[in-house]
Amino acid sequence: MQKIETVQELSVAAAALRAAGQRLALVPTMGALHAGHLSLVREARGRGYAVVLSDFVNPVQFGPSEDFAKYPRTVAADAAWCEKEGVALFFSPPVEEMFPRGFSTYLAEDRVSKPLCGVSRLALYRGVLTCWLKLLHLVQPAAVMMGEKDPQQVAVVRKAVLDLSIPIEILTCPTVRDADGLAVSARNTYLTPSQREEALAVWRALSRVKEMVDGGVRSPDRIVAEATHILAAKRRLRVIYIAVVHRDTMEALREVVPGQSLFAIAYWVDEVRLTDNLPL
Ligand code: AMP
Repeated sequence: MQKIETVQELSVAAAALRAAGQRLALVPTMGALHAGHLSLVREARGRGYAVVLSDFVNPVQFGPSEDFAKYPRTVAADAAWCEKEGVALFFSPPVEEMFPRGFSTYLAEDRVSKPLCGVSRLALYRGVLTCWLKLLHLVQPAAVMMGEKDPQQVAVVRKAVLDLSIPIEILTCPTVRDADGLAVSARNTYLTPSQREEALAVWRALSRVKEMVDGGVRSPDRIVAEATHILAAKRRLRVIYIAVVHRDTMEALREVVPGQSLFAIAYWVDEVRLTDNLPL
């Protein structure tokens, strides 16, 4: 595995792999690698791709009052893990490499990025897309791996790919959960045991939603009401949004259409902001 910290080296190393006949899959991450990231690496390797993993806490996607400074950073352990998993290129640049002083060009998507997380995190998808596109140009992969843990991110990227005719395949992997049901996330490390206990109400709500939809319920109002009721029992948990939306557009639905719908939630447990979802 080659460890790389500059954009110049990344572009040269990726070009060399492509010239040697390798098909590249890019796995963009913010590091603090966990089982969710690992599933993306393994899926890509299983499909025969040489994996380029970026490990970069992207400052452009954080708002001023968000957790950029305290976001977990475990680059050395991440690199060791990637080496073991057969990653070809491990890219962990300093901020100035990706966003040098005076950087002023951004990519924004104006529709799919607006609801849900876009309402309260104004910088998020503009930051994600800008960083993503820069990595894409540097690596020129055949595929990009993304987790269903962040369905709006997937939908926004897919829309950008469609709108700008970007020749890339987007491959997704299901949300990886811990044994207790909590979706694995770098931000789970912020949780105390009692906060984690509060967050688990979300898994109970998701399980109940699944049960309802499997049992034939199609009304988003009923689903949201039931989930809200389950979450209301937790005093330290505050819902930011809870919605049944279309998987591609993120627009609210009047009726669940199995295979096309998504139950999405963002919430605070005290000062920790988390998201979760369930494809319906
Ligand atoms: P992040 O490091 O949080 O920016 O995530 C990098 C990639 O890993 C994104 O495509 C995420 O959707 C994906 N990811 C994060 N957590 C999970 C999870 N629990 N299961 C599956 N994919 C995940």
